[in-house]
Amino acid sequence: MAYLDCNATTPLAAEALQAMLPFLTDGFANPSSAHGPGMRAKEAVGEARARVAALVGAKAQEVVFTASATEANHLAILGSLRRVAEKSPERRRIVVSAIEHPSTLLLVEDLIRQGWEAALIPVGRDGVVDIGAAEELIDGRTALVSVMVANNETGVLQPAAACADLAKRAGALFHADAVQAAGRVPLSLAGVGADLLTLSAHKMHGPKGAGALIVRKGVDVAPLIFGHQERKRRGGTENVPALVGFGVAAQLAAQALTLGEPAEIAAWRDRLEAEVKALWPKARVNGANAARLPNTASVTFYGDDGRPENGEELLMRLDRAQVCVSMGAACSTGGNEPSHVLTAMGLKAAEAEATLRFSLGRGAGQADLARALDALAAIKNRGKAAA
Ligand code: PLP
Repeated sequence: MAYLDCNATTPLAAEALQAMLPFLTDGFANPSSAHGPGMRAKEAVGEARARVAALVGAKAQEVVFTASATEANHLAILGSLRRVAEKSPERRRIVVSAIEHPSTLLLVEDLIRQGWEAALIPVGRDGVVDIGAAEELIDGRTALVSVMVANNETGVLQPAAACADLAKRAGALFHADAVQAAGRVPLSLAGVGADLLTLSAHKMHGPKGAGALIVRKGVDVAPLIFGHQERKRRGGTENVPALVGFGVAAQLAAQALTLGEPAEIAAWRDRLEAEVKALWPKARVNGANAARLPNTASVTFYGDDGRPENGEELLMRLDRAQVCVSMGAACSTGGNEPSHVLTAMGLKAAEAEATLRFSLGRGAGQADLARALDALAAIKNRGKAAA
């Protein structure tokens, strides 16, 4: 199998699994228990916290573990708006980019129903947030600005730091969803200038069901789930094995960044794009001229006649050849709507539906590439034979 869907989820690193196993067996104790096994579980969570913090240059106390990045986005947005509503009730506006993950955009839709005012920052044809538009939208009535660090469908890096600056100048809080960027490009809380930063373990070769919200020291976020854990910021008995796996995954990612993994992955991605274009000369790589994550290729396939191909059929044929890719985001696969990210970039519905996302991860290499390219060549040649 060639697994080229790492923006949907990544395989669990062997080191993370090994570190998790003892906490699924003998080390099952509750970290809140005062006995020895409980204290050892607590220590393990503490170590994981330090490792996740280190990946993004944060302090351990700034890490709030959650059960997913979806939950972390909710805690960031709902938790901070709750506090703003108490302290500065005149601030009723939230400003988010048009290409945020559904866990943010669907929440924003609900906030509108609750009486909040929301504004979407548009993106240009290259998939980059329009900073001029952001400047116009962020004002003294703004409570919170949320812009992702890298988009999950195109991999395009966003001007999050510039948006953080605009938010700061307007007296608003700034949240960045760094789920896709963390561990793939160097990243720090201070560098982004974020008050709140969302991370997910399963996008960096950690387990599913573990996320984190980094809450910068001094920023006040109301809990969504009450309880004494996570310094009263997120109640619920900690998922110790998953958090331990998250910590190891974060540490491995930090090491890989210093050992040049991004450049290696980018080289495979660039080869894939070049060879896809050799097969489909009219194919277009979305965001090709923007700064992008090293692992992501969003390709719109146009036939030799210039017409958009049927992306769903391409996906299914690749699947039959054991090549795993996505149409846009994994979460939108199966939905009937064309990708909101691609349409925000100006693609027509048929073009969005002719788009596949190839996303590479650690260990991707010659074998995966060869299988994917063989399968694509067979599909293209079959198409020609049928014509
Ligand atoms: N934010 C972004 C940008 C994502 O790509 C994803 C997952 O696809 C999420 C948030 C949600 O992450 P989780 O699966 O941990 O809830």
